[in-house]
Amino acid sequence: MSRSALPHRWRRLPAATAAGVALLLLAGPATAGTAAPPDREADAPVVLERSADEQADVVEVTVAGTAQLDALVATGVDLDHHVTPTEAGIVVHAVVTPTEVAALKRMGYRVGAVLHAAADSAQRISEREATIAAHRADNRAYTATLQRSAAASDVKIIRADYYTSGTNQVLSVEAKWAQGQTSTSTLTVARDSGPGTEIGSGGTQTISRFVDAGVYLYHRGAAAVTARPQRIQITSPTGDVAVAEVAEWLPIPADSPEGPGYQKDFVTSYLTPTELYDRIKQLADAYPQLAEVVKLPYQTNGYRRKAQVVLGGTTATRVAVDSLAWGHEGGNDITVELADPGAADRPLTVTVTGKAIRVSLATDAAGAVTSTAAQVAAALTAEAGALVTAYTYRGDAGAGVVAPVAPTPLSDNLKAPAGVSRDPHPVYAIRIGKYRDGSRTGVLAYAQEHAREWVPPLVAVETAERLLRNHATDENTKQLLRTLDIWIVPSINPDGGHYSFYDYASQRRNMTNHCAPGGATDALARNSWGVDNNRNYTEYSLFDGYSGASASCTGDTYAGPSELSEPENRNVDWLAQRPNMKFSMNLHSSGNYFMWSPGAYATPGRISAPRPTLAEESFFWGASSRILTAIKRHRNMAVTPARTGPISDVLYSAAGNSGDMLWYKYGIYAWNFEVGTSFQPTWDEAHQETMEFSNGLVELLRVARDYDKDKKRPTSTLSVTPSATEGSVSVRFDVSEPAAVFYTLDGSKPTFASTLYASAGIREGAETLTVPVGTKIHWFSVDAAGNIERNYRPDDDSLTFNRGWATLPTG
Ligand SMILES: [Zn+2]
Repeated sequence: MSRSALPHRWRRLPAATAAGVALLLLAGPATAGTAAPPDREADAPVVLERSADEQADVVEVTVAGTAQLDALVATGVDLDHHVTPTEAGIVVHAVVTPTEVAALKRMGYRVGAVLHAAADSAQRISEREATIAAHRADNRAYTATLQRSAAASDVKIIRADYYTSGTNQVLSVEAKWAQGQTSTSTLTVARDSGPGTEIGSGGTQTISRFVDAGVYLYHRGAAAVTARPQRIQITSPTGDVAVAEVAEWLPIPADSPEGPGYQKDFVTSYLTPTELYDRIKQLADAYPQLAEVVKLPYQTNGYRRKAQVVLGGTTATRVAVDSLAWGHEGGNDITVELADPGAADRPLTVTVTGKAIRVSLATDAAGAVTSTAAQVAAALTAEAGALVTAYTYRGDAGAGVVAPVAPTPLSDNLKAPAGVSRDPHPVYAIRIGKYRDGSRTGVLAYAQEHAREWVPPLVAVETAERLLRNHATDENTKQLLRTLDIWIVPSINPDGGHYSFYDYASQRRNMTNHCAPGGATDALARNSWGVDNNRNYTEYSLFDGYSGASASCTGDTYAGPSELSEPENRNVDWLAQRPNMKFSMNLHSSGNYFMWSPGAYATPGRISAPRPTLAEESFFWGASSRILTAIKRHRNMAVTPARTGPISDVLYSAAGNSGDMLWYKYGIYAWNFEVGTSFQPTWDEAHQETMEFSNGLVELLRVARDYDKDKKRPTSTLSVTPSATEGSVSVRFDVSEPAAVFYTLDGSKPTFASTLYASAGIREGAETLTVPVGTKIHWFSVDAAGNIERNYRPDDDSLTFNRGWATLPTG
């Protein structure tokens, strides 16, 4: 299924109570401990009348005490929030017309100074008009300049990142060119050679179009450099120019998050799923206060197959034979023989002796064999149906005459030692945390959806072991285990994992054969079966019409017969639906990618699953740079900017992947690692990759802890700059941390239903709004943890939202 509405990740209100403004007034400092609203019926208060043709002033009114203040409030007078106890009494500010002033005086209130006269407002308005007129004039002057500058250029630099990786220095550039869909031109990037140097002095590099599913996304490319450039410039083929500052990607801060004596490096070899599960059981046994092993609710279909054989050579003569019993439960003991009777005019007969099946083939008057594949298959199924079923090859008519075959064993072709269970296999998670009751922020890490990816499971167990072994001595680790509810599943797909280790190293999928009779169900297809567990989930799936998954039972990205058809996938769904689950890491290999949603699009048109909001995307980027910096600390391996971002922006569409289900269905911040350089690298390399990506996984836990502890409210400012559009200005909101901004342009109170400040486009950062000069702008921001700027409460009469004008700053 697909959902168009996102969960309200950024809309959580803090638990603070909503005290009304009027009550705050009565309960102010002057009345503390005594405030109680007057009994209005008993007091029968005088209610002020306001004449429609009068303007109001703000005046001071002094009351003797709380009783008189209550009486004043009961008149219905318009008071602002100002309440000051003084020696002369309580001074309040009333917004009143001359008629109301006279009435208040008649009632005996002491009316004092006029603080703000109606005429003052008129003065402000004429000042405002003059300012706007001046800005309009300024704008016209700027316009000519801007039309030649980057804002009006047909090329826009979206990223310029300098980084080191290993011993290399690299400059990675991404830019969008307005003609990029139709023109195949590369773009040339000119670099300076450091602060204060000329553009071009650092050399040039070209960047090429990134086109996916026929849609131009942007130009990108990286080149080795010998010095860190400060600025770059791109001149497009039309002569337009864009310049940008170069940022440093993943600089490593001096302070390590790992304290002195921090222990790591616990894995010493590749581990099969059986060994992975044994390892987490040992860990949980060693730290019973901190960890437990949880058997997930769905067992796999098992590392097991029927015993099979295909007899015969050419397609028309082939007979496929499958045991009814699983191979390890007797199927492997069955043999089949196709015997030439050695005599003329013999009928086709089948004899079963124990597990030995002997087919005596029919012959003609000359003694030649006449039985066809179809006849033999039918006879086997009819006469030996207690042991086997037989069929012609992949739907062929089977008209070819078979050749005799000596007794041949059927086999499940499974080579794992007997210690590897052939039964439906439980999938185990290790749950780590001091408080494993669902009350803490949940984090899920899971590996080996793809069987042949042998390093990611090691990252999972290494991380579990770091958490447990450092708990007693490392304060940071102790804090993670106090704050979080950590679920680590080292192998989601143990059947495929075992198959990859013992039988077929390139196995990607699980072992379940969903091919229909007449299709690729025979022994020769045994390495082609299975469901791609990372395509069988529920959001933006093949079944929803999205790209990047196969409907073929032998396709390597086979999505399965239906969403969540596979037990492996139902286990992930079960984990993700835990209400406290907020963060996840899906560990894959390879390619050194780091990705998040959207992970799928529909074709034609490359229609993407909904993109995260600007705030969500900036949270993804912010957390990602922390995680990737931790990875880089190990041996200075930089996951590149070009391989960081939404799956479908940097890699390809993967309909029905797990990250998308966790994000769209459950609102979990879901990332995907593509660890290392190959599926099964040399041990030395596998070991290094394990160490570096475990660094990253531990940093994800720190991101989760900081999210959990985040009580700091975001702040935001309005930036107004000249616009190329006459009579308008360019407006942006700047936030102190990743935060959603909701705004209005019509003077109304902003709420969660107001316009959400958005991204300018794929990988472009915040949009620039073009609004008429003088527009009144109201807004507030809310961070990922739900903290709202200035304690504003959009759903009640709180007024502490931000206010600004679309006017250029003066001076
Ligand atoms: Zn994978």
